[in-house]
Amino acid sequence: MVFAGHVDHGKSTLIGRILWDTDSVPKEKKEAAIAYCQKNRIEFEYAFLLDSLLEERTQNITIDVTEVNFFYGQRRFRIIDAPGHLEFLKNMISGATKADAAVLVIDSSVGIGEQTKRHAMLLALLGIKQIVVALNKFDLVHYSPQAYKILHNECTQLLEKLELPCNFVIPLSAKSGENIIERSMHLSWYEGKPLLETLLGLDISASPENSPLRFPIQDVFRFDERRLLAGRIESGKLQCGELITFYPSGKKSKVKAIHHWPPESSPQVVLAGKSTAIQLEEEIFVERGEIIAHENTPPIVATDFFARIFWLGDQPLVLGAPYTFRLATQQGIARVLQIQRVIDAMTLEDLQPVPMEVKKNETAEVIFRTSAPIACDLFENVQTTGRFVFADQNRIAGGGIILKALPSKPVHE
Ligand code: GDP
Repeated sequence: MVFAGHVDHGKSTLIGRILWDTDSVPKEKKEAAIAYCQKNRIEFEYAFLLDSLLEERTQNITIDVTEVNFFYGQRRFRIIDAPGHLEFLKNMISGATKADAAVLVIDSSVGIGEQTKRHAMLLALLGIKQIVVALNKFDLVHYSPQAYKILHNECTQLLEKLELPCNFVIPLSAKSGENIIERSMHLSWYEGKPLLETLLGLDISASPENSPLRFPIQDVFRFDERRLLAGRIESGKLQCGELITFYPSGKKSKVKAIHHWPPESSPQVVLAGKSTAIQLEEEIFVERGEIIAHENTPPIVATDFFARIFWLGDQPLVLGAPYTFRLATQQGIARVLQIQRVIDAMTLEDLQPVPMEVKKNETAEVIFRTSAPIACDLFENVQTTGRFVFADQNRIAGGGIILKALPSKPVHE
């Protein structure tokens, strides 16, 4: 799950509270957080728990997203907390993190502001369909049913505009621990479930293992006399002995062996999420970038795409300009041929007339073309091979998801 929300609306406090209430924090960490507050004569903050858990990890962390786990009701939850929405987006689109659901934290005494809208827009862009709205700091609005009605309405409007379902809007107080695990006495009028019970009810059936096989080749190397193809299985499963096809080249071979480290372990099947190296029956020439799949569930191979993108670059996205394009392990050049829609982050309305460029923090729908055919998927079918990144001089300038593949046509300037 990803936790998103405006700075100060209580994201860290809520995560700290969840960790505390589910007993997911080691005893010494709890004691350290309490001792720290006593020593500095400050009020205990649940947010410190998260800080102390993350402290040791941040030293050697290479991505800007941090993760913590908790258990509740037989399910393991992994929380991805992003310090800022740009880092969050960069990591989401580059595939470092994948979320089944999002908790959107809103300070009930403040309501929905621009940052919350932008976060919601990013969640929609990234295809996260299960959104739980945590109406935090409900103590500050005196647990009022009227306040709930107003905020619930605002949330419904926002999510509906983004074509996201609005099934869970939960009034709670992270600081006082109301409506987190237990139903709150102050919220007797509230008919829904508390937060954790709601999270337990979320659907996680769309696990990558049940999707078609996508194994992008990261590396080809020699080991002893063997030539190995290495990478991470992004979705589906790969079996020893089966026939596989490489995309976009269309070459075929059989999997002779699957190698893991240590070398003695040679499994017959590898599932999504695992890094592995395989040896082929025939030594055909394939390169980094190709995606291994099964012939009956192939990826799309094309050059022209309709996509939704989010722009992060300081320089606006310019029509026709060459950008480095990355999708899974493929890299090439892409140019935007047409900008069809640009959405204003503040109003969520389309900008009129349609601008000729996309500025920082804007979302747009565009048609782009890659200089060579690429293998990919529609985002709705396979998420990891349905998202891509645009880089400008080696810095991530934007990212997006593929909505449609188009027949390639000559461009009339
Ligand atoms: P973040 O920036 O979203 O991670 O926000 P923090 O978790 O750091 O919280 C910001 C401030 O809001 C802190 O001073 C918290 O004590 C306070 N806060 C968080 N949750 C609640 C709540 O449920 N009620 C009240 N009254 N204050 C809260």
